[in-house]
Amino acid sequence: MENKKYVYLFSEGDASMKNLLGGKGANLADMTSIGIPVPQGFTVTTEACNKYYDDNRTIAPEIVEQIHAKMAELENISGKKFGSLENPLLVSVRSGARASMPGMMDTILNLGLNDNTVEVMANKTGNPRFAYDSYRRFIQMFADVVMEVEKKHFEEIMDEMKEAKGVKLDTELDANDLKELVKKFKAFYKNAKGEEFPSDPKEQLIASITAVFRSWNNPRAIVYRRMNDIPGSWGTAVNVQEMVFGNKGETSGTGVAFSRNPSTGEKKIFAEYLMNAQGEDVVAGIRTPQPIEQLEKENAEVYKQFMDIVNTLENHYRDMQDMEFTIEEGKLYFLQTRNGKRTAQAALKIAVDLVEEGMLTKEEAILKVEPKQLDTLLHPNFDATDMKNAAVIAKGLPASPGAACGKVYFTAEESKVAHEKGEKVVLVRLETSPEDIEGMIASEGILTVRGGMTSHAAVVARGMGTCCVAGCGDIKVNEEAKTFEVGGVVYHEGDYISIDGSTGNVYAGQIKTVEPEISGYFGTFMAWADEIRSLKVRTNADTPRDTAQAVKYGAEGIGLCRTEHMFFEADRIMAIRQMIVAKDETSRRTALEKLLPMQRQDFIGIYEELVDRPATIRFLDPPLHEFLPHVDEEIKELAVELGITFEELKATVDSLHEFNPMMGHRGCRLAVSYPEIAEMQTRAVIEAAIDVKTRKGYDIVPEIMIPLVGEVKELKYVKDIVTRTADAIIAERGIELKYMVGTMIEIPRAALTADEIAKEAEFFSFGTNDLTQMTFGFSRDDAGNFLKHYYDKGIYESDPFQRLDQTGVGKLVEMSVKLGKQTREDIKLGICGEHGGDPSSVEFCHNIGLNYVSCSPFRVPVARLAAAQAEVKNPRK
Ligand code: ADP
Ligand code: MG
Ligand code: MG
Repeated sequence: MENKKYVYLFSEGDASMKNLLGGKGANLADMTSIGIPVPQGFTVTTEACNKYYDDNRTIAPEIVEQIHAKMAELENISGKKFGSLENPLLVSVRSGARASMPGMMDTILNLGLNDNTVEVMANKTGNPRFAYDSYRRFIQMFADVVMEVEKKHFEEIMDEMKEAKGVKLDTELDANDLKELVKKFKAFYKNAKGEEFPSDPKEQLIASITAVFRSWNNPRAIVYRRMNDIPGSWGTAVNVQEMVFGNKGETSGTGVAFSRNPSTGEKKIFAEYLMNAQGEDVVAGIRTPQPIEQLEKENAEVYKQFMDIVNTLENHYRDMQDMEFTIEEGKLYFLQTRNGKRTAQAALKIAVDLVEEGMLTKEEAILKVEPKQLDTLLHPNFDATDMKNAAVIAKGLPASPGAACGKVYFTAEESKVAHEKGEKVVLVRLETSPEDIEGMIASEGILTVRGGMTSHAAVVARGMGTCCVAGCGDIKVNEEAKTFEVGGVVYHEGDYISIDGSTGNVYAGQIKTVEPEISGYFGTFMAWADEIRSLKVRTNADTPRDTAQAVKYGAEGIGLCRTEHMFFEADRIMAIRQMIVAKDETSRRTALEKLLPMQRQDFIGIYEELVDRPATIRFLDPPLHEFLPHVDEEIKELAVELGITFEELKATVDSLHEFNPMMGHRGCRLAVSYPEIAEMQTRAVIEAAIDVKTRKGYDIVPEIMIPLVGEVKELKYVKDIVTRTADAIIAERGIELKYMVGTMIEIPRAALTADEIAKEAEFFSFGTNDLTQMTFGFSRDDAGNFLKHYYDKGIYESDPFQRLDQTGVGKLVEMSVKLGKQTREDIKLGICGEHGGDPSSVEFCHNIGLNYVSCSPFRVPVARLAAAQAEVKNPRK
């Protein structure tokens, strides 16, 4: 049998091989085949990465052999030789997973250099500055990425040299300086590692490929995967590619391009480049890049070729492309293309434009917008009147739209800590790097001194929907002292500033933020999504205000109205407390009488907002102690108000104490103990429905939902109270009113006996928050503390409270669906846990045939889009 193939030349791959070659590798192969000038190379597959982990983090000898064999082929293609003293081949070693993870994993450039080959390069090119610049970069990257000698040490050495020479820019160091720098770097390396810097190119190559595999599981990659639902089992591919050089002087350069504006979606090529630079220089914000229009002046021919290729690539991939290019002594190369990350605004405009340009069908366009991104459209802007008094203290680039106001912190770590303390944070950095990811997530906004629209900070912030102002050279940051200075004023850690990622403006102090307006593209696009999807989207709302908000965002009803939230308001909590301390049914009924009109009014308000849309109303769920104080002081005060003694009230509080309230006296168990509570709530729902129906003529069918059921008999017990009460009211009023009684499936026993439960329940709503905690056996209030260890150790990849655990909890849900339908064919099925707004969970709900998902108002658009995407991927209509 022939050996398994683990290494492919670019000319052997194609676009369909993303899973095996990664996104970057597949596209490099594809670009090669359509004739784009791509430096050639080969890809080590994701299977090789997975095998590396299976084999205890070693690359199997057969794979090493295949790598060396492909290197020999690449030598033939390039006419150069790896490690040779005549015409040395230099390569880059680049990571590239199936899904793009910008900057999350590591790249090594100029590999193949050593003390001998660098001299050959210097002589051959007649450009020793270039040769030594490449060499010092290689040492720096290899040491950092492969040998874990942090790159900041090398940067410090370089900064010292620049200071000694009295220059500011890297490009101002000459060949001799760089030669000297290489010596210093190597000495530092030897000192740090206790061995010489490796000079054998083959050894360098295998070590680098190993490092890329290893980087798949570095902490920032793990965090990124968790945020973006990328499974760890995919692994990364490694691309080895002949180097082209943007650092050969003033006719060379490197840049980043977007085929449309990634911030606004405008149909205009957007690109930036730096002359005499390499690799990440343009995104690292070391110097501020030039707009591509400048290239037209410098080299019109290359400019034209550049524009042609960008258009070719966009037409080929039928989507906005994000590309990397390098010009080596006037010759243009493309190094990467991928579907570009973009803001939500841009994503909508591009999707709608591409349909109108005839490039995509509506179904295809629907798949082009990340559902989670829509969130960002619903994010705040600054209040216009507040803005009039606000003074702009500095201006940077509008890198990621939105408005943010918060306290200044200068490190990712401190931002994270402040955020955990509940502070709003604006992270201020010279520039960000992937290590800052968690601090960036914790921030309301990000402000950087250096870098352009394609800098790390800008790209990552846009992806997260976090407001970002980049390249704000006006401010002078002192990272040591934790201050920045602008216009003669010094701002300290903890001071408030406000930043506007749509204009680039920075303001001192606090500015109020307000909700955004939604553009026409949003309307068009979402109308397509609604047309396509079959899964309905409802909302979790407890007040008329939330209901109105959700209806505005397209909610088709309420999937969960939590009635207890209505009782926490000041004028009501007293009544419910009176009910709790009541000694007998009569005084309990007296207290409940006070609650009835308030509760009825709540439902009237909600029904009026909903018009004809349905609402599922859940009866009282939390344990009663939640309504009582627990501190003696407060118990004393309340006792006075209730007209009972402190001892009496204290005794009640004590008697309600539970060791495990999550599994205590709550849900339908309350109604079993105190049927009069369910009775009052039924009255309120039915009377409200009758009121709105007769006054407004809306067609209302109340859906009453009994929580925390685990046994059909307890459901039947409570249901009987509901129907007795409701039927009496309806008969008394002499009116037609249909209503439904159903239950939440949130206890594993209910899922296991769903066929029984369905005999009484007219609908199921999956309460996946409780179902998750009871299935896993950990509390969602405590799990955060230890789940992080599970992520670190790769036991769980995501938070099961955010993303439905389809394997375990999902199995229970699927089973309930099947059992429920066996008993009651037309049983109505929905989900009302947090998962109802999580795209991958929405897809799951679509696939198992639920009728609707329900989520918080702000996530309604997200769920509508996720439902449409699920339909496109797996049509149900
Ligand atoms: P990332 O995924 O973080 O963008 P890349 O592997 O794309 O990492 O590479 C980092 C930088 O190095 C990019 O700017 C890329 O264009 C540049 N680069 C990679 N390979 C080469 C090469 N063979 N020649 C010149 N530049 C390269
Ligand atoms: Mg790249
Ligand atoms: Mg529950």
